[in-house]
Amino acid sequence: KLFNELQELKGNIRVFCRVRPFLPGQGAPDTVVEHVGEDGELVVTNPTRPGKDGLRQFRFNKVYSTNATQAEVFSDIKPLVRSVLDGFNVCIFAYGQTGSGKTYTMTGPDGASEEDWGVNYRALNDLFKISQSRKGNINYEVGVQMVEIYNEQVLDLLSDDISQKKTLGILSTTSQNGIAVPDASMYPVTSTSDVITLMDIGLQNRSVGATAMNERSSRSHSIVTVHVRGKDMKTGSVLYGNLHLVDLAGSERVDRSEVKGDRLREAQHINKSLSSLGDVIFSLASKSSHIPYRNSKLTQLLQSSLGGRAKTLMFVQLNPDATSYSESMSTLKFAERVS
Ligand code: ADP
Ligand code: MG
Repeated sequence: KLFNELQELKGNIRVFCRVRPFLPGQGAPDTVVEHVGEDGELVVTNPTRPGKDGLRQFRFNKVYSTNATQAEVFSDIKPLVRSVLDGFNVCIFAYGQTGSGKTYTMTGPDGASEEDWGVNYRALNDLFKISQSRKGNINYEVGVQMVEIYNEQVLDLLSDDISQKKTLGILSTTSQNGIAVPDASMYPVTSTSDVITLMDIGLQNRSVGATAMNERSSRSHSIVTVHVRGKDMKTGSVLYGNLHLVDLAGSERVDRSEVKGDRLREAQHINKSLSSLGDVIFSLASKSSHIPYRNSKLTQLLQSSLGGRAKTLMFVQLNPDATSYSESMSTLKFAERVS
C-alpha cells in the first residue's frame, strides 16, 4: 500500500491559475481573459487578432476568476498544507510578472486585515492551530525561517541585523529534519501573534535595501519555510515535514539592449533561476532520471520539497489587461510546460 502511495505521489505537481482583477483607476479595462471555466479551463484572446484566430485555450488543475477571495483560495490548498503535519514536504510557489498578484496571493495586500491574509499567514496559523489540537497524541514543534535569494545569494530575512547582509550557505544534502539553510534564524511559532510578528519582520527586512527606483522585492525570491517536528506520544516515533512558501521574482523579460550594470546582472540571475526551476519541475513531471537541482540556489534550497514524495503547487498569476498579453502568454507557456 505504501509503495502504491509513493508511486502515486511521484511527480505530484499541481498548477492553479489566478487572474488579478482590474485595479481601481486603471482606466478602460481591456481584458484578454475570455473565459474561466469550473473545470480549470482558461481562454485568452490575442488583442491584435480579435476573433476565433486569436483564441488560445489552456487547462490547469484550477483557474480562479478575478473575484476569488483569499479564503476560497486557501480552502483549496488546506489539505496540501496540512499534509506537512503528516511528514510530507510541500512547496507552494507564486509565478508571474511583476504586478500580477504574487505577493497578494502569498502574503496579501499591504497592511492586510485578517480577511485579506494571503497563504503565508493562513498556512502558518492553520498549522499552528492543528498542531495544538493534536497535543497529547502527537506533540509538534513548528519553527519558521524566512530568506531571500537575490543575485544568487541567500539572505536571512529574520536576522536581528539585516544591514549586515550576511550571505548564507545551503547544505548540499539536506539533513533528516529538512533544514537546508542551517544558519538562517529559526523562530518557534506558538501563537497567532507570533505568526504576525514574524511575517512583519520578514516583510520589513525584505524592503531594506530597496531604493525608490529599484523595487527590490520584484527582483528577489522570498521563501518562508515552516519546519514541523512531530513526536508520536504513543510510539515515540518522530516525523519531520516542511513547507516552503515562495514568492518568486517577477518573470518579465528585460530588454537586454536597454539595461546595463546592476539591472542586467539582476535580470540574468532571475532568468537563470526561473528557468532552472522550470527545468526541475519539467524533469520531475516527465519522470526524467536526472533532475538538475544544482543549476540555481533556488532549486538547491528547495530540493527536499521538489520530487520524491514531496508535493508541489504553483500559482500562475496573470494580469488581465491587453497590454500584458505577451507577458501573460510567456507565463502561460511556462505553466503549460510544467503541468
Ligand atoms: P506582484 O507581487 O506579482 O508584483 P502584487 O501582489 O503586488 O503583484 O499585486 C499588484 C497590485 O494588485 C497590488 O496593489 C495588489 O494589492 C493588487 N492585487 C493583486 N491581486 C489582487 C486580487 N486578487 N484582488 C485585489 N487586488 C489584487
Ligand atoms: Mg510582489
